[in-house]
Amino acid sequence: MDRRSFLLWSGVGGAAALGTVAGFSHWQEIPSIVHYPGRAEGHFLRNLLRDHRSLPPPSAQFETDVVILGSGIAGLTAAWKMNKEGHQNFVMIDGPQPYGNAAGGHFGDLAYPTGGHYLPLPSPESVHVRELLSDLGIILRNPLSERPYYDERFILHGPEERLLFNGQWQDGFIPTEGVPQQERQEHKRFFAEVERLRALRGSDGKRIFVFPTALSSTDPEWQALDRITLKTWLDQQGYRSPTLHWYLNYCCRDDYGTRYDQVSAWAGLHYYCSRWGQAENAGNGAWLTWPGGLHPLAEAMDNAAGKRRRSGTAISLKSVAGGGVEVVYFELVDGVPRTTRVRARKAICAMPLYVAARVVEGITNFGFDPAIHVPSYAPWMVSNFLMSDFPEELPQVPLCWDNVVYQEPGLGYVVSTHQDIRATPPQKTVFSAYRALSDHTPESARQWLEQASAKELLAAASADLKTAYGWKFSACVERVEITVRGHAMAAPRPGFRSNAGLQALRELDGPILFAHADLSGFSVFEEAAWWGYRAAQLVMK
Ligand SMILES: Cc1cc2nc3c(=O)[nH]c(=O)nc-3n(C[C@H](O)[C@H](O)[C@H](O)COP(=O)(O)OP(=O)(O)OC[C@H]3O[C@@H](n4cnc5c(N)ncnc54)[C@H](O)[C@@H]3O)c2cc1C
Repeated sequence: MDRRSFLLWSGVGGAAALGTVAGFSHWQEIPSIVHYPGRAEGHFLRNLLRDHRSLPPPSAQFETDVVILGSGIAGLTAAWKMNKEGHQNFVMIDGPQPYGNAAGGHFGDLAYPTGGHYLPLPSPESVHVRELLSDLGIILRNPLSERPYYDERFILHGPEERLLFNGQWQDGFIPTEGVPQQERQEHKRFFAEVERLRALRGSDGKRIFVFPTALSSTDPEWQALDRITLKTWLDQQGYRSPTLHWYLNYCCRDDYGTRYDQVSAWAGLHYYCSRWGQAENAGNGAWLTWPGGLHPLAEAMDNAAGKRRRSGTAISLKSVAGGGVEVVYFELVDGVPRTTRVRARKAICAMPLYVAARVVEGITNFGFDPAIHVPSYAPWMVSNFLMSDFPEELPQVPLCWDNVVYQEPGLGYVVSTHQDIRATPPQKTVFSAYRALSDHTPESARQWLEQASAKELLAAASADLKTAYGWKFSACVERVEITVRGHAMAAPRPGFRSNAGLQALRELDGPILFAHADLSGFSVFEEAAWWGYRAAQLVMK
Protein backbone atom coordinates (compact mmCIF):
# COMPACT_ATOMS: atom_id res chain seq x y z
CA MET A 1 0.00 0.00 0.00
CA ASP A 2 1.35 3.43 -0.93
CA ARG A 3 0.09 6.42 1.05
CA ARG A 4 0.12 9.62 -0.90
CA SER A 5 -1.46 13.01 -0.88
CA PHE A 6 -1.79 14.93 -4.13
CA LEU A 7 -3.39 17.80 -5.92
CA LEU A 8 -6.44 17.26 -8.01
CA TRP A 9 -7.08 19.70 -10.80
CA SER A 10 -10.62 20.40 -11.81
CA GLY A 11 -11.51 22.94 -14.40
CA VAL A 12 -12.43 23.99 -17.90
CA GLY A 13 -13.12 20.57 -19.45
CA GLY A 14 -15.42 19.57 -16.63
CA ALA A 15 -17.23 22.87 -16.54
CA ALA A 16 -17.83 22.66 -20.27
CA ALA A 17 -19.30 19.20 -19.73
CA LEU A 18 -21.85 20.75 -17.41
CA GLY A 19 -22.71 23.28 -20.05
CA THR A 20 -21.42 26.39 -18.28
CA VAL A 21 -19.89 29.11 -20.43
CA ALA A 22 -17.13 30.40 -18.21
CA GLY A 23 -15.01 27.43 -17.17
CA PHE A 24 -12.47 28.01 -14.45
CA SER A 25 -10.02 25.92 -12.58
CA HIS A 26 -9.08 25.45 -8.99
CA TRP A 27 -6.69 23.29 -7.07
CA GLN A 28 -7.54 21.11 -4.21
CA GLU A 29 -5.53 18.77 -2.03
CA ILE A 30 -7.14 15.38 -1.66
CA PRO A 31 -5.79 12.73 0.72
CA SER A 32 -5.45 9.51 -1.17
CA ILE A 33 -4.29 5.95 -0.75
CA VAL A 34 -3.32 3.63 -3.60
CA HIS A 35 -3.48 -0.12 -2.90
CA TYR A 36 -1.74 -2.72 -5.05
CA PRO A 37 -2.98 -6.07 -3.67
CA GLY A 38 -0.27 -8.74 -3.99
CA ARG A 39 2.42 -6.37 -5.25
CA ALA A 40 4.60 -6.35 -2.11
CA GLU A 41 4.63 -10.17 -1.94
CA GLY A 42 5.30 -10.47 -5.69
CA HIS A 43 8.18 -7.98 -5.61
CA PHE A 44 9.64 -9.61 -2.54
CA LEU A 45 9.73 -13.02 -4.17
CA ARG A 46 11.02 -11.64 -7.48
CA ASN A 47 13.91 -9.87 -5.75
CA LEU A 48 14.66 -12.96 -3.74
CA LEU A 49 14.99 -15.02 -6.91
CA ARG A 50 16.97 -12.31 -8.72
CA ASP A 51 19.50 -12.11 -5.89
CA HIS A 52 19.70 -15.93 -5.63
CA ARG A 53 18.67 -15.74 -2.01
CA SER A 54 16.36 -18.20 -0.35
CA LEU A 55 13.71 -17.81 2.28
CA PRO A 56 14.63 -18.76 5.84
CA PRO A 57 13.76 -22.38 6.71
CA PRO A 58 10.28 -22.83 8.21
CA SER A 59 10.13 -21.62 11.78
CA ALA A 60 6.79 -23.33 12.37
CA GLN A 61 4.97 -26.39 11.12
CA PHE A 62 1.48 -27.83 11.51
CA GLU A 63 -0.75 -30.54 10.13
CA THR A 64 -4.32 -30.40 8.97
CA ASP A 65 -6.57 -32.58 6.84
CA VAL A 66 -7.20 -30.04 4.08
CA VAL A 67 -5.34 -26.83 3.34
CA ILE A 68 -7.08 -24.22 1.18
CA LEU A 69 -4.73 -21.76 -0.54
CA GLY A 70 -6.60 -18.55 -1.28
CA SER A 71 -9.62 -16.92 0.35
CA GLY A 72 -11.48 -15.58 -2.68
CA ILE A 73 -15.01 -16.74 -3.45
CA ALA A 74 -13.77 -20.15 -4.64
CA GLY A 75 -11.76 -20.84 -1.47
CA LEU A 76 -14.53 -19.48 0.75
CA THR A 77 -17.15 -21.65 -0.96
CA ALA A 78 -15.01 -24.74 -0.39
CA ALA A 79 -14.55 -23.78 3.27
CA TRP A 80 -18.26 -23.02 3.80
CA LYS A 81 -19.34 -26.32 2.21
CA MET A 82 -16.86 -28.41 4.20
CA ASN A 83 -17.81 -26.73 7.47
CA LYS A 84 -21.48 -27.17 6.70
CA GLU A 85 -20.99 -30.90 6.10
CA GLY A 86 -19.13 -31.29 9.40
CA HIS A 87 -15.70 -31.53 7.82
CA GLN A 88 -13.94 -29.03 10.04
CA ASN A 89 -10.33 -30.15 9.98
CA PHE A 90 -9.08 -27.57 7.48
CA VAL A 91 -7.12 -24.34 7.36
CA MET A 92 -7.29 -21.55 4.79
CA ILE A 93 -4.23 -19.49 3.88
CA ASP A 94 -5.35 -16.04 2.72
CA GLY A 95 -2.68 -15.21 0.18
CA PRO A 96 -1.86 -11.55 -0.39
CA GLN A 97 -5.49 -10.47 -0.32
CA PRO A 98 -8.18 -11.79 2.01
CA TYR A 99 -11.37 -12.33 -0.05
CA GLY A 100 -9.50 -11.54 -3.32
CA ASN A 101 -11.76 -9.79 -5.84
CA ALA A 102 -14.60 -9.79 -3.29
CA ALA A 103 -12.69 -7.51 -0.92
CA GLY A 104 -13.91 -4.12 0.29
CA GLY A 105 -13.10 -1.27 2.61
CA HIS A 106 -14.77 1.55 4.46
CA PHE A 107 -14.52 5.24 5.19
CA GLY A 108 -15.78 5.34 8.78
CA ASP A 109 -19.20 3.67 8.66
CA LEU A 110 -19.48 3.97 4.86
CA ALA A 111 -18.58 0.65 3.23
CA TYR A 112 -17.37 0.28 -0.35
CA PRO A 113 -16.20 -2.48 -2.73
CA THR A 114 -12.64 -2.78 -4.00
CA GLY A 115 -13.68 -5.55 -6.41
CA GLY A 116 -17.04 -7.07 -7.32
CA HIS A 117 -20.24 -5.34 -6.33
CA TYR A 118 -23.22 -7.49 -7.32
CA LEU A 119 -24.54 -11.00 -7.80
CA PRO A 120 -27.42 -11.67 -10.19
CA LEU A 121 -30.28 -13.82 -8.88
CA PRO A 122 -28.94 -17.34 -9.45
CA SER A 123 -30.61 -19.30 -12.25
CA PRO A 124 -32.19 -22.72 -11.51
CA GLU A 125 -29.00 -24.54 -12.56
CA SER A 126 -26.90 -22.57 -10.04
CA VAL A 127 -28.03 -24.89 -7.26
CA HIS A 128 -24.68 -24.43 -5.48
CA VAL A 129 -25.23 -20.65 -5.22
CA ARG A 130 -28.82 -21.08 -4.10
CA GLU A 131 -27.74 -23.52 -1.38
CA LEU A 132 -25.13 -21.01 -0.20
CA LEU A 133 -27.54 -18.05 -0.20
CA SER A 134 -30.14 -20.08 1.65
CA ASP A 135 -27.60 -21.15 4.26
CA LEU A 136 -26.56 -17.53 4.77
CA GLY A 137 -30.16 -16.39 5.19
CA ILE A 138 -30.19 -14.35 1.97
CA ILE A 139 -32.76 -16.66 0.40
CA LEU A 140 -35.49 -16.90 3.02
CA ARG A 141 -37.82 -19.49 1.43
CA ASN A 142 -37.94 -22.13 -1.30
CA PRO A 143 -34.30 -21.95 -2.46
CA LEU A 144 -34.67 -24.62 -5.15
CA SER A 145 -38.02 -23.49 -6.51
CA GLU A 146 -38.35 -21.54 -9.73
CA ARG A 147 -38.82 -18.34 -7.71
CA PRO A 148 -37.11 -18.35 -4.32
CA TYR A 149 -38.01 -15.65 -1.80
CA TYR A 150 -35.08 -13.32 -1.01
CA ASP A 151 -34.35 -10.99 1.90
CA GLU A 152 -35.44 -7.72 0.34
CA ARG A 153 -32.66 -5.72 1.94
CA PHE A 154 -30.26 -7.26 -0.57
CA ILE A 155 -32.34 -7.01 -3.74
CA LEU A 156 -31.20 -4.01 -5.75
CA HIS A 157 -33.90 -1.38 -5.55
CA GLY A 158 -34.63 1.36 -8.06
CA PRO A 159 -33.57 3.56 -9.64
CA GLU A 160 -31.09 0.97 -10.88
CA GLU A 161 -29.14 2.29 -13.85
CA ARG A 162 -28.79 5.25 -16.17
CA LEU A 163 -26.61 6.39 -19.08
CA LEU A 164 -25.18 9.84 -19.78
CA PHE A 165 -25.85 10.17 -23.52
CA ASN A 166 -25.77 13.37 -25.56
CA GLY A 167 -25.47 15.55 -22.45
CA GLN A 168 -28.36 14.13 -20.47
CA TRP A 169 -29.11 11.11 -18.36
CA GLN A 170 -31.49 8.46 -19.67
CA ASP A 171 -32.88 5.25 -18.13
CA GLY A 172 -30.98 2.01 -18.74
CA PHE A 173 -27.61 1.48 -20.42
CA ILE A 174 -28.65 1.12 -24.04
CA PRO A 175 -28.95 4.51 -25.75
CA THR A 176 -32.50 5.31 -26.85
CA GLU A 177 -33.07 9.08 -26.61
CA GLY A 178 -32.66 10.60 -30.07
CA VAL A 179 -31.53 7.26 -31.54
CA PRO A 180 -33.00 6.61 -35.03
CA GLN A 181 -35.87 4.14 -35.33
CA GLN A 182 -33.76 1.81 -37.49
CA GLU A 183 -31.18 1.47 -34.71
CA ARG A 184 -33.85 0.86 -32.08
CA GLN A 185 -35.22 -1.94 -34.28
CA GLU A 186 -31.81 -3.56 -34.16
CA HIS A 187 -31.74 -3.29 -30.37
CA LYS A 188 -35.09 -5.12 -30.32
CA ARG A 189 -33.83 -7.76 -32.71
CA PHE A 190 -30.78 -8.39 -30.54
CA PHE A 191 -32.79 -8.80 -27.33
CA ALA A 192 -35.27 -11.09 -29.09
CA GLU A 193 -32.32 -13.24 -30.16
CA VAL A 194 -31.09 -13.33 -26.54
CA GLU A 195 -34.55 -14.58 -25.45
CA ARG A 196 -34.40 -17.30 -28.12
CA LEU A 197 -30.88 -18.40 -27.16
CA ARG A 198 -31.78 -18.55 -23.46
CA ALA A 199 -34.29 -21.30 -24.12
CA LEU A 200 -32.29 -23.16 -26.77
CA ARG A 201 -30.76 -26.59 -26.13
CA GLY A 202 -27.87 -28.26 -27.94
CA SER A 203 -27.87 -31.69 -29.59
CA ASP A 204 -26.88 -33.18 -26.18
CA GLY A 205 -30.13 -31.88 -24.66
CA LYS A 206 -28.36 -29.33 -22.42
CA ARG A 207 -29.08 -25.63 -22.49
CA ILE A 208 -26.45 -23.80 -24.50
CA PHE A 209 -25.62 -21.06 -22.02
CA VAL A 210 -25.78 -22.03 -18.36
CA PHE A 211 -24.14 -21.12 -15.06
CA PRO A 212 -22.13 -23.09 -14.10
CA THR A 213 -20.58 -23.32 -17.56
CA ALA A 214 -19.56 -26.91 -16.74
CA LEU A 215 -23.24 -27.81 -17.30
CA SER A 216 -23.56 -25.95 -20.63
CA SER A 217 -24.11 -27.86 -23.86
CA THR A 218 -20.99 -28.95 -25.72
CA ASP A 219 -22.79 -29.14 -29.05
CA PRO A 220 -20.06 -28.32 -31.63
CA GLU A 221 -22.44 -26.14 -33.61
CA TRP A 222 -22.64 -23.70 -30.69
CA GLN A 223 -19.05 -24.17 -29.56
CA ALA A 224 -18.11 -22.68 -32.93
CA LEU A 225 -19.08 -19.32 -31.43
CA ASP A 226 -15.87 -19.58 -29.41
CA ARG A 227 -13.80 -19.26 -32.59
CA ILE A 228 -14.89 -15.69 -33.32
CA THR A 229 -15.20 -12.46 -31.36
CA LEU A 230 -18.50 -10.95 -30.30
CA LYS A 231 -17.94 -8.08 -32.72
CA THR A 232 -17.44 -10.50 -35.62
CA TRP A 233 -20.64 -12.30 -34.64
CA LEU A 234 -22.56 -9.01 -34.58
CA ASP A 235 -21.18 -8.10 -38.01
CA GLN A 236 -22.03 -11.55 -39.38
CA GLN A 237 -25.58 -11.22 -38.07
CA GLY A 238 -25.98 -7.88 -39.81
CA TYR A 239 -26.10 -5.67 -36.72
CA ARG A 240 -24.89 -2.22 -37.78
CA SER A 241 -26.30 0.07 -35.07
CA PRO A 242 -23.41 2.09 -33.51
CA THR A 243 -25.33 2.39 -30.25
CA LEU A 244 -25.85 -1.40 -30.06
CA HIS A 245 -22.15 -1.91 -30.82
CA TRP A 246 -21.21 0.62 -28.13
CA TYR A 247 -23.51 -1.07 -25.63
CA LEU A 248 -22.18 -4.58 -26.23
CA ASN A 249 -18.60 -3.34 -26.16
CA TYR A 250 -19.40 -1.65 -22.84
CA CYS A 251 -20.86 -4.94 -21.53
CA CYS A 252 -17.74 -6.92 -22.48
CA ARG A 253 -15.49 -4.29 -20.89
CA ASP A 254 -17.66 -4.34 -17.76
CA ASP A 255 -18.02 -8.13 -17.50
CA TYR A 256 -14.62 -9.26 -18.74
CA GLY A 257 -12.41 -6.16 -18.66
CA THR A 258 -11.86 -6.65 -22.39
CA ARG A 259 -13.24 -5.07 -25.59
CA TYR A 260 -15.90 -6.89 -27.62
CA ASP A 261 -13.54 -7.20 -30.58
CA GLN A 262 -11.33 -9.40 -28.36
CA VAL A 263 -13.93 -11.38 -26.41
CA SER A 264 -15.14 -14.79 -27.58
CA ALA A 265 -18.68 -14.55 -29.01
CA TRP A 266 -19.59 -17.57 -26.87
CA ALA A 267 -18.56 -15.70 -23.70
CA GLY A 268 -20.17 -12.45 -24.82
CA LEU A 269 -23.52 -14.15 -25.43
CA HIS A 270 -23.23 -16.42 -22.40
CA TYR A 271 -23.33 -13.49 -20.01
CA TYR A 272 -26.71 -12.41 -21.41
CA CYS A 273 -28.27 -15.75 -21.93
CA SER A 274 -27.47 -17.38 -18.59
CA ARG A 275 -28.02 -14.79 -15.86
CA TRP A 276 -31.82 -14.67 -15.76
CA GLY A 277 -32.73 -15.92 -12.27
CA GLN A 278 -36.18 -15.21 -10.90
CA ALA A 279 -37.57 -14.47 -7.45
CA GLU A 280 -40.98 -14.53 -5.81
CA ASN A 281 -40.38 -10.97 -4.61
CA ALA A 282 -38.30 -9.34 -7.40
CA GLY A 283 -38.41 -8.77 -11.15
CA ASN A 284 -36.75 -11.24 -13.53
CA GLY A 285 -32.98 -10.89 -13.75
CA ALA A 286 -32.79 -8.73 -10.58
CA TRP A 287 -29.50 -8.28 -8.75
CA LEU A 288 -28.33 -8.70 -5.20
CA THR A 289 -26.00 -6.08 -3.79
CA TRP A 290 -24.58 -4.69 -0.57
CA PRO A 291 -23.09 -1.27 0.26
CA GLY A 292 -19.65 -2.92 0.41
CA GLY A 293 -20.26 -4.80 -2.86
CA LEU A 294 -19.49 -8.53 -2.52
CA HIS A 295 -17.41 -7.95 0.61
CA PRO A 296 -20.25 -8.45 3.15
CA LEU A 297 -21.20 -11.64 1.31
CA ALA A 298 -17.60 -12.90 1.49
CA GLU A 299 -17.53 -12.03 5.19
CA ALA A 300 -20.75 -13.96 5.77
CA MET A 301 -19.23 -16.96 3.95
CA ASP A 302 -16.12 -16.70 6.09
CA ASN A 303 -18.22 -16.70 9.28
CA ALA A 304 -20.27 -19.64 8.04
CA ALA A 305 -16.99 -21.47 7.30
CA GLY A 306 -15.89 -21.14 10.92
CA LYS A 307 -13.28 -18.43 10.32
CA ARG A 308 -10.36 -20.77 9.72
CA ARG A 309 -8.22 -18.25 7.84
CA ARG A 310 -4.56 -17.55 8.47
CA SER A 311 -2.48 -14.84 6.89
CA GLY A 312 0.33 -15.91 4.57
CA THR A 313 1.26 -16.43 0.94
CA ALA A 314 2.12 -19.91 -0.41
CA ILE A 315 5.44 -20.26 -2.18
CA SER A 316 5.33 -23.99 -2.82
CA LEU A 317 2.79 -26.77 -2.99
CA LYS A 318 3.72 -30.34 -3.81
CA SER A 319 2.47 -33.89 -3.47
CA VAL A 320 4.64 -35.99 -1.19
CA ALA A 321 5.70 -39.59 -1.64
CA GLY A 322 3.50 -41.84 0.42
CA GLY A 323 0.49 -39.55 0.08
CA GLY A 324 -0.61 -36.10 1.02
CA VAL A 325 0.76 -32.66 0.25
CA GLU A 326 3.22 -30.18 1.64
CA VAL A 327 2.83 -26.41 1.52
CA VAL A 328 5.34 -23.75 2.46
CA TYR A 329 3.99 -20.25 2.97
CA PHE A 330 5.48 -17.00 4.18
CA GLU A 331 4.38 -13.83 5.87
CA LEU A 332 6.17 -10.52 5.80
CA VAL A 333 6.37 -9.14 9.31
CA ASP A 334 7.86 -5.62 9.10
CA GLY A 335 9.45 -6.62 5.81
CA VAL A 336 11.05 -9.73 7.34
CA PRO A 337 9.86 -13.10 6.00
CA ARG A 338 8.61 -15.82 8.36
CA THR A 339 7.95 -19.20 6.78
CA THR A 340 5.68 -22.04 7.87
CA ARG A 341 5.35 -25.63 6.60
CA VAL A 342 1.96 -27.36 6.43
CA ARG A 343 1.33 -31.06 5.88
CA ALA A 344 -2.12 -32.12 4.78
CA ARG A 345 -4.01 -34.98 3.16
CA LYS A 346 -5.30 -32.70 0.42
CA ALA A 347 -4.82 -29.15 -0.85
CA ILE A 348 -7.35 -26.94 -2.62
CA CYS A 349 -5.37 -24.52 -4.72
CA ALA A 350 -7.77 -21.53 -4.85
CA MET A 351 -5.30 -18.95 -6.17
CA PRO A 352 -5.19 -17.50 -9.72
CA LEU A 353 -3.53 -19.82 -12.23
CA TYR A 354 -0.72 -17.40 -13.14
CA VAL A 355 0.34 -17.69 -9.48
CA ALA A 356 -0.36 -21.43 -9.21
CA ALA A 357 1.90 -21.93 -12.25
CA ARG A 358 4.83 -20.83 -10.04
CA VAL A 359 3.69 -22.29 -6.74
CA VAL A 360 2.57 -25.82 -7.69
CA GLU A 361 5.60 -28.00 -8.26
CA GLY A 362 5.37 -30.02 -11.47
CA ILE A 363 2.09 -28.44 -12.58
CA THR A 364 2.86 -29.57 -16.14
CA ASN A 365 2.41 -33.18 -14.94
CA PHE A 366 -1.29 -32.34 -14.53
CA GLY A 367 -1.56 -31.45 -18.23
CA PHE A 368 -1.28 -27.70 -17.61
CA ASP A 369 1.59 -26.04 -19.42
CA PRO A 370 1.99 -22.48 -18.08
CA ALA A 371 3.62 -21.39 -21.35
CA ILE A 372 0.43 -22.02 -23.30
CA HIS A 373 -2.46 -22.52 -20.89
CA VAL A 374 -2.29 -19.56 -18.48
CA PRO A 375 -5.15 -17.24 -19.49
CA SER A 376 -4.64 -13.60 -20.45
CA TYR A 377 -5.50 -11.32 -17.50
CA ALA A 378 -7.31 -8.00 -17.76
CA PRO A 379 -6.09 -5.23 -15.42
CA TRP A 380 -8.60 -3.11 -13.48
CA MET A 381 -8.76 -0.11 -11.17
CA VAL A 382 -11.48 0.36 -8.57
CA SER A 383 -11.50 3.86 -7.10
CA ASN A 384 -13.59 4.90 -4.14
CA PHE A 385 -14.35 8.59 -3.71
CA LEU A 386 -15.62 9.69 -0.31
CA MET A 387 -18.12 12.43 -1.15
CA SER A 388 -18.81 15.09 1.45
CA ASP A 389 -21.96 15.96 -0.48
CA PHE A 390 -23.94 14.84 -3.54
CA PRO A 391 -22.84 16.95 -6.54
CA GLU A 392 -25.47 18.70 -8.64
CA GLU A 393 -26.93 16.44 -11.33
CA LEU A 394 -27.48 16.97 -15.03
CA PRO A 395 -31.14 16.75 -16.06
CA GLN A 396 -33.64 13.97 -16.81
CA VAL A 397 -32.86 10.97 -14.59
CA PRO A 398 -31.79 11.15 -10.91
CA LEU A 399 -28.72 9.43 -9.45
CA CYS A 400 -29.02 5.64 -9.77
CA TRP A 401 -27.13 2.73 -8.25
CA ASP A 402 -25.03 2.28 -11.44
CA ASN A 403 -24.23 5.33 -13.58
CA VAL A 404 -22.47 4.96 -16.93
CA VAL A 405 -21.15 7.53 -19.40
CA TYR A 406 -21.36 6.98 -23.17
CA GLN A 407 -17.61 6.95 -23.71
CA GLU A 408 -14.60 4.66 -23.35
CA PRO A 409 -12.70 3.33 -21.43
CA GLY A 410 -14.39 4.15 -18.09
CA LEU A 411 -17.19 1.95 -16.80
CA GLY A 412 -19.06 4.53 -14.76
CA TYR A 413 -19.63 4.54 -11.02
CA VAL A 414 -21.75 2.85 -8.39
CA VAL A 415 -23.24 4.61 -5.36
CA SER A 416 -22.40 2.71 -2.17
CA THR A 417 -25.23 4.15 -0.06
CA HIS A 418 -27.88 3.25 -2.64
CA GLN A 419 -29.35 0.34 -0.64
CA ASP A 420 -29.64 2.36 2.56
CA ILE A 421 -33.32 2.64 3.20
CA ARG A 422 -33.62 6.16 4.53
CA ALA A 423 -36.29 8.81 4.23
CA THR A 424 -33.68 11.42 3.30
CA PRO A 425 -30.41 10.77 1.45
CA PRO A 426 -27.36 10.46 3.70
CA GLN A 427 -25.14 13.53 3.99
CA LYS A 428 -22.10 11.66 2.70
CA THR A 429 -21.70 8.84 0.24
CA VAL A 430 -19.06 6.86 -1.66
CA PHE A 431 -18.86 6.79 -5.45
CA SER A 432 -17.05 3.62 -6.63
CA ALA A 433 -15.61 4.24 -10.10
CA TYR A 434 -14.71 1.19 -12.18
CA ARG A 435 -12.19 1.17 -14.97
CA ALA A 436 -10.80 -1.80 -16.90
CA LEU A 437 -7.74 -0.76 -18.89
CA SER A 438 -9.18 -2.28 -22.04
CA ASP A 439 -7.82 0.54 -24.22
CA HIS A 440 -4.29 -0.91 -23.81
CA THR A 441 -2.93 -4.40 -24.20
CA PRO A 442 -2.90 -6.10 -20.77
CA GLU A 443 0.92 -5.96 -20.71
CA SER A 444 1.21 -2.27 -21.55
CA ALA A 445 -1.62 -1.47 -19.11
CA ARG A 446 0.25 -3.27 -16.33
CA GLN A 447 3.42 -1.35 -17.21
CA TRP A 448 1.50 1.91 -17.11
CA LEU A 449 -0.14 1.03 -13.78
CA GLU A 450 3.25 0.19 -12.32
CA GLN A 451 4.78 3.52 -13.37
CA ALA A 452 1.84 5.92 -13.17
CA SER A 453 1.92 8.61 -10.50
CA ALA A 454 -0.98 8.88 -8.08
CA LYS A 455 -2.06 11.99 -9.97
CA GLU A 456 -2.18 10.08 -13.27
CA LEU A 457 -4.10 7.22 -11.66
CA LEU A 458 -6.59 9.68 -10.23
CA ALA A 459 -7.06 11.40 -13.59
CA ALA A 460 -7.89 8.04 -15.18
CA ALA A 461 -10.14 7.03 -12.28
CA SER A 462 -12.17 10.23 -12.25
CA ALA A 463 -12.69 10.73 -16.01
CA ASP A 464 -16.35 9.62 -16.05
CA LEU A 465 -17.18 11.49 -12.86
CA LYS A 466 -15.73 14.68 -14.31
CA THR A 467 -17.77 14.26 -17.47
CA ALA A 468 -20.88 13.81 -15.34
CA TYR A 469 -20.32 16.64 -12.86
CA GLY A 470 -17.59 18.93 -14.16
CA TRP A 471 -15.76 21.00 -11.56
CA LYS A 472 -18.55 20.42 -9.07
CA PHE A 473 -17.35 16.85 -8.68
CA SER A 474 -13.97 17.53 -7.12
CA ALA A 475 -15.46 20.19 -4.85
CA CYS A 476 -17.36 17.33 -3.14
CA VAL A 477 -14.47 14.84 -2.87
CA GLU A 478 -13.06 14.38 0.60
CA ARG A 479 -10.78 11.35 0.18
CA VAL A 480 -9.89 8.75 -2.46
CA GLU A 481 -8.80 5.13 -2.25
CA ILE A 482 -7.62 3.52 -5.48
CA THR A 483 -7.18 -0.24 -5.77
CA VAL A 484 -5.00 -1.34 -8.68
CA ARG A 485 -5.46 -4.94 -9.80
CA GLY A 486 -2.85 -5.75 -12.43
CA HIS A 487 -4.07 -9.34 -13.01
CA ALA A 488 -7.69 -8.78 -12.02
CA MET A 489 -9.53 -11.40 -14.07
CA ALA A 490 -9.07 -13.93 -16.86
CA ALA A 491 -10.25 -12.60 -20.22
CA PRO A 492 -12.32 -15.08 -22.30
CA ARG A 493 -10.67 -14.57 -25.67
CA PRO A 494 -11.65 -16.70 -28.69
CA GLY A 495 -10.60 -20.32 -28.13
CA PHE A 496 -10.84 -20.17 -24.33
CA ARG A 497 -13.46 -22.93 -24.26
CA SER A 498 -11.00 -25.38 -25.76
CA ASN A 499 -8.05 -24.57 -23.46
CA ALA A 500 -6.82 -28.14 -22.79
CA GLY A 501 -4.83 -27.09 -19.70
CA LEU A 502 -7.91 -25.66 -17.99
CA GLN A 503 -9.84 -28.78 -18.95
CA ALA A 504 -7.14 -30.97 -17.34
CA LEU A 505 -7.19 -29.00 -14.06
CA ARG A 506 -10.99 -29.07 -13.98
CA GLU A 507 -10.96 -32.86 -14.11
CA LEU A 508 -8.24 -33.51 -11.51
CA ASP A 509 -9.12 -35.65 -8.54
CA GLY A 510 -5.98 -36.25 -6.47
CA PRO A 511 -4.21 -34.81 -3.44
CA ILE A 512 -4.08 -31.41 -5.18
CA LEU A 513 -7.35 -29.92 -6.44
CA PHE A 514 -7.80 -26.60 -8.19
CA ALA A 515 -10.60 -24.14 -7.48
CA HIS A 516 -10.67 -20.65 -8.94
CA ALA A 517 -12.81 -18.77 -11.46
CA ASP A 518 -9.80 -19.08 -13.81
CA LEU A 519 -10.74 -22.73 -14.37
CA SER A 520 -13.75 -21.46 -16.33
CA GLY A 521 -11.61 -19.03 -18.33
CA PHE A 522 -13.57 -16.03 -17.06
CA SER A 523 -14.39 -14.54 -13.72
CA VAL A 524 -17.81 -14.34 -12.11
CA PHE A 525 -19.12 -15.33 -8.70
CA GLU A 526 -21.12 -18.36 -9.87
CA GLU A 527 -18.09 -19.93 -11.58
CA ALA A 528 -15.69 -19.29 -8.68
CA ALA A 529 -18.24 -20.76 -6.27
CA TRP A 530 -18.81 -23.77 -8.53
CA TRP A 531 -15.14 -24.82 -8.48
CA GLY A 532 -14.93 -24.31 -4.70
CA TYR A 533 -18.08 -26.37 -4.19
CA ARG A 534 -16.83 -29.15 -6.42
CA ALA A 535 -13.41 -29.26 -4.71
CA ALA A 536 -15.09 -29.52 -1.30
CA GLN A 537 -17.20 -32.44 -2.53
CA LEU A 538 -14.09 -34.19 -3.86
CA VAL A 539 -12.08 -33.83 -0.64
CA MET A 540 -15.00 -35.10 1.44
CA LYS A 541 -15.92 -38.15 -0.61
C1 LIG B 1 -12.94 -5.11 -10.40
C2 LIG B 1 -13.73 -6.39 -10.42
C3 LIG B 1 -15.11 -6.36 -10.32
C4 LIG B 1 -15.84 -7.55 -10.34
N1 LIG B 1 -17.19 -7.49 -10.21
C5 LIG B 1 -17.91 -8.62 -10.12
C6 LIG B 1 -19.30 -8.59 -9.82
O1 LIG B 1 -19.85 -7.51 -9.59
N2 LIG B 1 -19.99 -9.75 -9.80
C7 LIG B 1 -19.38 -10.96 -10.04
O2 LIG B 1 -20.05 -12.01 -10.04
N3 LIG B 1 -18.05 -11.01 -10.28
C8 LIG B 1 -17.31 -9.89 -10.31
N4 LIG B 1 -15.96 -9.95 -10.52
C9 LIG B 1 -15.34 -11.25 -10.73
C10 LIG B 1 -14.75 -11.84 -9.44
O3 LIG B 1 -13.41 -12.01 -9.75
C11 LIG B 1 -15.41 -13.15 -9.05
O4 LIG B 1 -16.77 -12.90 -8.72
C12 LIG B 1 -14.80 -13.86 -7.84
O5 LIG B 1 -14.70 -12.97 -6.77
C13 LIG B 1 -13.47 -14.56 -8.12
O6 LIG B 1 -13.13 -15.35 -7.01
P1 LIG B 1 -11.92 -16.39 -7.04
O7 LIG B 1 -11.93 -17.09 -5.72
O8 LIG B 1 -12.01 -17.23 -8.23
O9 LIG B 1 -10.59 -15.55 -7.19
P2 LIG B 1 -9.90 -14.30 -6.50
O10 LIG B 1 -10.89 -13.31 -6.08
O11 LIG B 1 -8.84 -13.93 -7.49
O12 LIG B 1 -9.19 -14.88 -5.20
C14 LIG B 1 -7.91 -15.49 -5.22
C15 LIG B 1 -7.39 -15.70 -3.82
O13 LIG B 1 -6.10 -16.34 -3.95
C16 LIG B 1 -5.22 -15.75 -3.05
N5 LIG B 1 -3.84 -15.99 -3.46
C17 LIG B 1 -3.12 -15.42 -4.45
N6 LIG B 1 -1.85 -15.86 -4.44
C18 LIG B 1 -1.75 -16.74 -3.43
C19 LIG B 1 -0.70 -17.51 -2.87
N7 LIG B 1 0.55 -17.50 -3.40
N8 LIG B 1 -0.95 -18.28 -1.78
C20 LIG B 1 -2.19 -18.36 -1.24
N9 LIG B 1 -3.23 -17.64 -1.73
C21 LIG B 1 -3.01 -16.83 -2.80
C22 LIG B 1 -5.62 -14.28 -3.00
O14 LIG B 1 -5.13 -13.66 -1.83
C23 LIG B 1 -7.15 -14.41 -3.03
O15 LIG B 1 -7.62 -14.55 -1.70
C24 LIG B 1 -15.19 -8.78 -10.50
C25 LIG B 1 -13.79 -8.81 -10.61
C26 LIG B 1 -13.07 -7.62 -10.57
C27 LIG B 1 -11.59 -7.67 -10.67
